[in-house]
Amino acid sequence: MTSRAQTLTTPEGRLSFTVVHRPRVTRRLHLELADDGSLRVVVPRDWPDFYTRRLLHKNLPFVRRFLRRARERQLPPLRYQDGEVHLFGGEEHVLRVTQATGKAVVVALEGDALVVRLPDTSGERVRRALRAWYLAQARESFAERLSLMQARAPWARDRQLNLHLRRMKRTWGTCRSNGDIRLNTHLVKAPVDCLDYVITHELCHLEEMNHGARFYALQESLWPSWRAWRRHLREQGGRYTRE
Ligand SMILES: [Zn+2]
Repeated sequence: MTSRAQTLTTPEGRLSFTVVHRPRVTRRLHLELADDGSLRVVVPRDWPDFYTRRLLHKNLPFVRRFLRRARERQLPPLRYQDGEVHLFGGEEHVLRVTQATGKAVVVALEGDALVVRLPDTSGERVRRALRAWYLAQARESFAERLSLMQARAPWARDRQLNLHLRRMKRTWGTCRSNGDIRLNTHLVKAPVDCLDYVITHELCHLEEMNHGARFYALQESLWPSWRAWRRHLREQGGRYTRE
């Protein structure tokens, strides 16, 4: 097997991949996820690189979707056991599970550790305790970030908005013309820039429902670094929605 490392520059940033040929006959391009999470492109032996690159470029949304889903599948489900790494605000925290004598369930950040004290330390109980804690953290910060961003958007400033929080697997946020904004609770695990990106995206939908040029001009004016954070969510979103 031969392989060549390559990079493609796309509107959303660089896409690195390795081109691979196989001894068996391959008639068309196919995508694989390498063990290190990088993209591997298997192509027929006689394909010139420019041809492979053009094909990838033409099918970027498909390639990104393939990568996101494959990376999600690569992550084993969380076990909610002591010593496991969990995320909050884009930071990694070691989970510390301690059996408590009382009935109270306590979840707290103590230094780098995410500490859970509860009477029943089974994975299922720890999972529930963490879910409730994440939701409480989201309640605290999402409304604040929303009103901050709302104040920066002239078209949204005087609108009545209703914020809803929900755990979702595939959607980061939604917005309806009546001012209902729904945000994915899992965003609390990501860097706050991801949350700001999703919030500004939804705020732009109050003015422009479709993802057209006008929409992206608004997005650019409200949150200039949106592309980087959209890419971050596309590439790493699976780490945040993982449960
Ligand atoms: Zn949208």
